[in-house]
Amino acid sequence: MKETTSVQEMYGSLVFTDKVMRERLPKDIYRAVHKTIQNGTHLELDVANSVAASMKEWAIENGATHYTHWFQPMTGLTAEKHDSFISPEEDGTVIMEFSGKELVRGEPDASSFPSGGLRATFEARGYTAWDPSSPAFIKDGTLYIPTAFLSYGGEALDKKTPLLRSMEALSTQAVKLLQLLGESDVTRVTTTIGSEQEYFLIDKDMYLKRKDLLLCGRTLLGADAPKGQEMEDHYFGVLKPKVSEYMHELDEELWKLGIPVKTKHNEVAPAQHELAPVFETANVAVDHNQLTMEMMKRIADRHGFACLLHEKPFEGINGSGKHNNWSIQTSTGVNLLNPGKHPGDNLVFLTFLISVIAAVDEYADLLRVSVATAGNDHRLGANEAPPAIISIFLGDELTAVLDSFEKGETFESAGKQQMGTGAQVLPHIMRDTTDRNRTSPFAFTGNKFEFRMPGSSLSVANPNIVLNTAVADTLEDLYDALVKIPEEERGEALRKLLRESLSAHKRVLFNGNGYTDEWVEEAERRGLDNLRSLPEAMPRWITDKSVGLFTKHQVLTKDEIFSRYEMLLESYYKTIHIESLTLQEMVRKDFMQGLIAYTKDLSQEASQKKAVLPDAGVTLEEEILRKLSEDGTKIIGSLDRLHEDTKKAEQIEDALESASFYQSVVLQDMEALRSSVDHAEAQIPDSYLPYPTYSKVLFSTI
Ligand code: ADP
Ligand code: MG
Repeated sequence: MKETTSVQEMYGSLVFTDKVMRERLPKDIYRAVHKTIQNGTHLELDVANSVAASMKEWAIENGATHYTHWFQPMTGLTAEKHDSFISPEEDGTVIMEFSGKELVRGEPDASSFPSGGLRATFEARGYTAWDPSSPAFIKDGTLYIPTAFLSYGGEALDKKTPLLRSMEALSTQAVKLLQLLGESDVTRVTTTIGSEQEYFLIDKDMYLKRKDLLLCGRTLLGADAPKGQEMEDHYFGVLKPKVSEYMHELDEELWKLGIPVKTKHNEVAPAQHELAPVFETANVAVDHNQLTMEMMKRIADRHGFACLLHEKPFEGINGSGKHNNWSIQTSTGVNLLNPGKHPGDNLVFLTFLISVIAAVDEYADLLRVSVATAGNDHRLGANEAPPAIISIFLGDELTAVLDSFEKGETFESAGKQQMGTGAQVLPHIMRDTTDRNRTSPFAFTGNKFEFRMPGSSLSVANPNIVLNTAVADTLEDLYDALVKIPEEERGEALRKLLRESLSAHKRVLFNGNGYTDEWVEEAERRGLDNLRSLPEAMPRWITDKSVGLFTKHQVLTKDEIFSRYEMLLESYYKTIHIESLTLQEMVRKDFMQGLIAYTKDLSQEASQKKAVLPDAGVTLEEEILRKLSEDGTKIIGSLDRLHEDTKKAEQIEDALESASFYQSVVLQDMEALRSSVDHAEAQIPDSYLPYPTYSKVLFSTI
């Protein structure tokens, strides 16, 4: 009992919650703020002044001395600049001040953040603007105010602004359509997101000894450990005590910040784990996921761990993803993707389901771009993560529902079946009618869609911006077609339009195994894209179709679209550039020293042996030396090639050309070099290597 109370007390204790506002703000002010949060309406300055005063008081009571406008620039990380509340008085004392103006607007210098060219046309000054729909919180004695980040000209320089705009676009179109269908109570629709977060936890000292992990977040060389994930003994395995202690503290710290983390377990690969929160409004969920990633790293440090959020930290075992569970909910509390008992007759559900299918098919390439990063490219299409081809899994029952719908037949559900467990003592369990297909990139999972392509380090803002806008677009098309039809004929017309849409887009539906080569061939026959890498996918971002979509729904302007294009490409090639330099340095400075020291010792040992025992053979020593010498020759050749090609890459001016060159040449050189180094590493005793091997890094936590 005691435990429950303390968790309840702890939960949200560092958050300026709705409850705190209700208790502290004058009634009319509270009502105004509440309305802003619920309906996304504008907030007046006098209201902001009152909120600021109460926020400051609350923050100071909770130990805060500073405040910061917290935002999410295009680096994918979060940014903050701290200001104290102090204001000096003439008598040498200070008072603590915080005005409404300081709450709603900040003016950080934007010139050192990526802007993809927007900076050249606009002043360096940037603005942060308070987002009242995401609650402020206290961390490290500072009041954190979630904000959007804009250029002097009002262009979005962050991920929050377009996300909020896309939620708005989706709401506008959904409400319009729902009202046309007779759902007149609905005034607003929100996107809900639950993001499952995968990560690795490894020993901190080992992490510090590997330059590749330290500088790039992933290992660039390293022979496989004798054991990988083939025993299937880690997934859902017993939590090791040290890991359990870490997860416990992480839960508590996140709960204090009002982040509803719920599930935790070991994942498939050794040293890999997962955390999942209860879903929230998209905008808050995105902020909370950013905070979660930050806290994961910070708390790992306290427990002697390093937390790796890279998509592919180790070769040969699974990488990490972030499942984006997505649904849409009305202001009347209805989940629009809830099929209910009779999905075949649930026209609202079918309308939204088919609109999502149409949107995903129509804008599959933009969804692919939304999850493209240098790190995630290592994961998509490998036999562990969804392929780079976008398809939708619906499960047998829903597929049958849609088949009947398309043919104009009534669907007869087989109903839920009771499962035979064969043991009397066990409770009766009803089998779910939708199975789970782990290989699908976009799966319907009961009452929501799960987009499984995002990588573990990605801000979930990206995929949701695209998803919301694409769905808003298909909803608007439907509305435009329906509104012309007399009211009494609309029901039939809607069915007809949905049937047509389904026929046009059902090529994207696939219930089979997405990991197979057969699917790759089948997808090609169906005309589905298979955009394997970021440079291959990026040109889709700036097509007329893409610009048309985002500008029509006022989610991104043409300038913002093009600046994002530049930024993504830049971040991609810079990442591989750093990886190439790191690998070269590790091989030259660290690995080769180990190799040379070992071969020197071995040669000396062999000649001494010969001197002492002239008759004894030194075949073993010779054999090892020969093999290592062969590897050494290959290594030098590959290292030179990588060096030269990286130099060539540095000369390329055009961003897309550069990214393509890094992808098709530099990455391949790195692979070739790695393969010889790994081959040699497997023969060198650990004591000669200045960095820990895969076996040690992956299996040292006991
Ligand atoms: P699994 O591991 O089977 O994919 P989990 O239970 O770990 O599923 O995670 C499911 C996630 O989906 C949770 O974060 C949950 O809160 C979220 N979720 C559930 N309902 C919705 C919804 N309506 N909208 C968005 N996310 C949802
Ligand atoms: Mg999942």
